[in-house]
Amino acid sequence: MGIFIAVVLTFIITSGGCALFARSYFLRRKKVEDRAVHDMLEHVAHKQNESQTVLASLNLGVIAYSSDGILLLNNQASGQMIEEIPHYFVDFLNKYDVDQKIRSGFLLDKRQVEINYIYHDRSYRLSVQKRKLARDKNAGHIIVIQDITRQIREEQQRKEFVANVSHELKTPLTTIKTYSESLLDWGIDEKSRESIKKDINKLYDGSLRMETLIDDLLLLSRIDGNAIYTRIEKIELLPIVRSCVERLYPEADKKHIEFSSYAVSDKPIAYADRSALERIILNLVNNSIKYTQEYGEIKVYVGMLVDEVYFRVTDNGIGIPLEVQDNIFKRFYRVDATGSRAHGGTGLGLAIVKELVDLHLGQIDLKSEIGKGSDFTVTLPGVKKTMRTALYELTENGSCSHNVTKAAEADLNLLAEKLGIMAKWKSLKKREVDALFKAIDVSEPIF
Ligand code: ADP
Repeated sequence: MGIFIAVVLTFIITSGGCALFARSYFLRRKKVEDRAVHDMLEHVAHKQNESQTVLASLNLGVIAYSSDGILLLNNQASGQMIEEIPHYFVDFLNKYDVDQKIRSGFLLDKRQVEINYIYHDRSYRLSVQKRKLARDKNAGHIIVIQDITRQIREEQQRKEFVANVSHELKTPLTTIKTYSESLLDWGIDEKSRESIKKDINKLYDGSLRMETLIDDLLLLSRIDGNAIYTRIEKIELLPIVRSCVERLYPEADKKHIEFSSYAVSDKPIAYADRSALERIILNLVNNSIKYTQEYGEIKVYVGMLVDEVYFRVTDNGIGIPLEVQDNIFKRFYRVDATGSRAHGGTGLGLAIVKELVDLHLGQIDLKSEIGKGSDFTVTLPGVKKTMRTALYELTENGSCSHNVTKAAEADLNLLAEKLGIMAKWKSLKKREVDALFKAIDVSEPIF
């Protein structure tokens, strides 16, 4: 009996121990498995989050439809690019594939078809691709939407530019052709000296016009390609404005225009390229002469306002209508094309002026009233302002980013030398930077 009880007890204790061991083993294993599942789910969620973030941050719209044509996903951008995102691919096609371009493309076995779509004044390219999506046996569809408004605008501008250039070149070319034909047909012997002289003058005018136009185009193309050579130096504005005005006196005189120039403040000086500055002044004053009637009045002011220099050309000529004033600096824009051509204008003058002013970190403003006259003001940063900007750029980045501020760097070096400061710009102490700013304020521009 005792043995029997001992056997039973041993059996109970052993099996209990085994059960306990097994339970703890399985519990531990489950825990490990749970952890693995948890890690995997976290990984999947993380990956999904990552792709959602990537999708959301894209400038592209992305929409995906499964093989049975049901919307799988779309990112935020896609919602802003097209009017609506249908739940079924077939509705998507009904709405956006009005010309059947997508359907016929896929019928012809194309893997990708593109269509253009305009929404809220912007142009989009919808590129629809047939793609096998994960786990799906058949192909679904992915639609990538790209904003192409800028490309379309640039393309349009390029086309207009070519059309304008051809048109502008054709006018003087026709003149040259007509008058040379007239000379050839009549023969020099049969024409009077007066008439021959007239024809040759016309030929000369035509070639001059073509030359001006080509020079203007070349200058613009150099500006566009950052290939314009500028020699930026400190320039006193008053003498240069005076010399430009004097050069145009005879033109103004022909129309009995009263011409006066005023120096409003002492020695306005800026970092500038001399020939670019001359081009800006000559162009503005020349326009005033062209677009002002006989016995009109033109005034040119030169001055300084706080730390900027300016020159202003005002006339009491024909004026520019308010509604076109925003267009006036565009290439080939003219209020009255025939009038402009009669004056030998190319319609590129103000576009060049604007580009050159931008190159000097300046600004051009226009006030004008039709029938009363126009008032153009060019403002450029004065020497001290440019030196301050240059010092700021040097201490922040170690170098100057612009030709104008680069020109001020030499003067800053001199100033630092005077103050006994080593020109290691990025490692200057605050008190050294303060001393330099102060020195700029009290310094006289050095020539
Ligand atoms: P253009 O060679 O035709 O003079 P611009 O680019 O210099 O070309 O000027 C563009 C247009 O701006 C001119 O055709 C003219 O219509 C207008 N414009 C420019 N300056 C004046 C002005 N001072 N008064 C009136 N209109 C002006």
